[in-house]
Amino acid sequence: MEIDAAREVRTTCPYCGVGCGVLAKVAADGQVSVRGDPDHPANFGRLCSKGSALAETIDLDGRLLHPEIDGRRAGWDEALDRVAATFSRTIAEHGPDSVAFYVSGQLLTEDYYVANKLMKGFVGSANIDTNSRLCMASSVAGHRRAFGSDTVPGTYEDLELADLIVLVGSNLAWCHPVLYQRIAAVREKRPDMKVVLVDPRRTMTADIADMHLAIAPDGDVALFTGLLAYLGQHNAVDRGYISAHTAGFGQALFAASKLDLAGVAAATDLSEDEIVRFYSLFTATARTVTVYSQGVNQSSSGTDKVNAIINCHLATGRIGKPGAGPFSVTGQPNAMGGREVGGLANMLAAHMEIENPEHRERVQRFWNSPDIAEKPGLKAVDMFKAVADGRIKALWIMATNPVDSMPDADAVEAAIKACPFVVVSDVLAKTDTIRHAHVRLPATAWGEKDGTVTNSERRISRQRSFLPAPGEARPDWWIVAEVGKRIGFGEAFSYSSLAKIFAEHAALSGFENNGERDFDIGAYSGVDEEDYHALAPFQWPASSSQKTAPGPSITRFFADGNFYTADRKARFVAIRAATESRTNPDYPLILNTGRVRDHWHTMTRTGKSPRLSQHIAEPFVEIHPADAQRYGIGDADIVRISSPRGEVLVRAMITSRQRRGSLFAPMHWTDQFAAKGRLDSLTASLTDPVSGQPALKHVAVRLEKFTAKAFGFAVTRRRPEMIDADYWAAARCRGGWRIELAFAEAEINWTGFAQSLFGAPPETEMLAYHDRDAGQHRIAAFDDKHLAGALFVAPGPVAVSRGWAAQQLEEVHASQRERFRIVAGRAGAERPDAGAIVCSCFGVGANQIVAAVTAGCATVDAIGGALKAGTNCGSCRAEIRAIIQVNRFQAAE
Ligand code: SF4
Repeated sequence: MEIDAAREVRTTCPYCGVGCGVLAKVAADGQVSVRGDPDHPANFGRLCSKGSALAETIDLDGRLLHPEIDGRRAGWDEALDRVAATFSRTIAEHGPDSVAFYVSGQLLTEDYYVANKLMKGFVGSANIDTNSRLCMASSVAGHRRAFGSDTVPGTYEDLELADLIVLVGSNLAWCHPVLYQRIAAVREKRPDMKVVLVDPRRTMTADIADMHLAIAPDGDVALFTGLLAYLGQHNAVDRGYISAHTAGFGQALFAASKLDLAGVAAATDLSEDEIVRFYSLFTATARTVTVYSQGVNQSSSGTDKVNAIINCHLATGRIGKPGAGPFSVTGQPNAMGGREVGGLANMLAAHMEIENPEHRERVQRFWNSPDIAEKPGLKAVDMFKAVADGRIKALWIMATNPVDSMPDADAVEAAIKACPFVVVSDVLAKTDTIRHAHVRLPATAWGEKDGTVTNSERRISRQRSFLPAPGEARPDWWIVAEVGKRIGFGEAFSYSSLAKIFAEHAALSGFENNGERDFDIGAYSGVDEEDYHALAPFQWPASSSQKTAPGPSITRFFADGNFYTADRKARFVAIRAATESRTNPDYPLILNTGRVRDHWHTMTRTGKSPRLSQHIAEPFVEIHPADAQRYGIGDADIVRISSPRGEVLVRAMITSRQRRGSLFAPMHWTDQFAAKGRLDSLTASLTDPVSGQPALKHVAVRLEKFTAKAFGFAVTRRRPEMIDADYWAAARCRGGWRIELAFAEAEINWTGFAQSLFGAPPETEMLAYHDRDAGQHRIAAFDDKHLAGALFVAPGPVAVSRGWAAQQLEEVHASQRERFRIVAGRAGAERPDAGAIVCSCFGVGANQIVAAVTAGCATVDAIGGALKAGTNCGSCRAEIRAIIQVNRFQAAE
């Protein structure tokens, strides 16, 4: 592929479900730059910190560039033949259900379509499931129960038109930052718009909330069934809408009324006063949008939570109207596209149902396929159980990292290790999953691959390539199609281009549809190469019968009160709130898992960015001060969290944002970045009975202090091959790596340790300071005028400025005085410590913001004027506001 250095390419961000448009440009020297696409309707030019740093994540460091078989380099033909032959033989000997694909919301729709077609239509099994099962399967199940289809009714515009936004289990500020920014911008103009946050933690999203309901874990069903009962009692339901467009209201209200206000308070751990204030606000506000994400979905009662929310919207007729509706926001960039092609084991393509014989016959006829799966396949958790017990004998994992992201991750790793044949197609040569693959297939990455993705508001956008495919990397759709051909399905998988796959997908969505199915993009079934190349973002539906030309539009479902059930009426679901205690004397605390602002999933991409790695550079756990005191834990101690399945070592962060009795820890760290940070080694394979989604946010655990005799901090130009420490966490910085360390023993040859950590040859100049009585050691290694590495060791958490130390890797240290300054661990008065990085875009630290507040900056904009912090992507504005609040208060004391 030739790079056109003068041209900006319109593409889409590969991270969260907001689906922001990105303009990417390759300069003549090969440097890539990105900016938000001002014309994309998801973001209108905005990008968050992750999107803004995309250019830092596309280097070829660590890439898998050639196919490999059993650890040796192989050609594509040999590798594809091996995959096809082993899958064919396994199917012939043990039947179609003895093989499985585990795919990903990172795949593009065309990749997903081909993989699903091969497994469901040609292998004849539905054993294809996706990591989206971990993300939003409960929303899919809830939609299908209520609407008869997996339909997101509203649009992002509704968030701007609403008078009340209820955010349930959603840290929008960090996990969907551009949506958060869109809401924050409206609130500035329309201060009477209200926001309620329902979340056990006081997350950064509380920054825009008028009310924060610090609900007990999994108290949401009680809160929303209580709301339905309240609406009924206060005659606040829309009787006309209910009778014309819904069924089951009486039973749902009866079930809800079993719980009185005191019962709701007991189940949610909220006061009756708080609950009534929320209920009356909801009752009084016609334009209400309820936004929910993983806090709702990742639960053993996730589907009931979704339906409890939808029940309240159906009861008030607040659905499909401008500024009103339930709104599930997806975690992944193409979770919605995966749903459209049937990437979940219990769905067929184009939102058709696998249990429906008419649908199966239609899809089989359309595909002209020899076979079609007749029953749902194994959902993710059950799929890996089947790998463990030998029912699945050949497994292909595409673009995901289940050894880190699946619940009970150690058991999943053991299952993969024991599986007779494992294929992994990925972009990286080293992940915790790919290390167990028999065949490794190099896939193209963001910037190199082409296709479409669908965001949370049903908007389909193109991801376009602007870089050549490196080495022998190939697109996922091509890899799957080649295997399909080699298995013997040449005709069905001989795609000459991506446009042909998209056109086929669009044609299937419109095939014998006649308005009976929600997903219909039949208007695009005739796209040719040119149309596909130029495809502008559009929202579905876009049926072939639509008279208007396909293109940008705003669409809402259910405005006419017609749903996709047999009688076209929506269904209330009768739900009884049940509380369940998972803790016990051995595991007395509840662990909640989630994301941080600047990292994505298992850090295979964001972990490459120095900018993104500075905000939070190691795995941590948030602990309420009372719990910290109870367990004798101080801030920045290393702690062990254990469950019956495993344990992790992470840094303690004591904060009253956390509920007492609950912990929060992020799920990003893997064996590639930390000694023992794989959080999902703790979580259980407990799932929602309807959706099969794991309960990743409510895990009983134990907490104890890890007694470290020595703590360390190091910066090093080269990434160490191995780190011999009980605790370590490595993060990229501009000149190399920064590493946090802790040791159970202090009797260590620190100079030898430093030498091995830096990878320093014996002739390297080493300067050292040792105070053995105080347990203080500082060692720096120089390679000519440059710092090769520096190690700081202390008996407690090391106090050296991380930013200053990392910066030394990039500077010239010509004089002995400068070198000794590093060993002293002091920046010097002329270079004050910036503190922990808050604004990733401009590298502004907490200490700088505090200094600006002390000097009189009283608003986020004033801080922006003084330091530029918060003036680019805006992802840090909530944190800046929190720092201002604390420090203004202290300054006034
Ligand atoms: Fe990407 Fe951020 Fe937009 Fe999500 S909000 S799509 S991560 S730029």
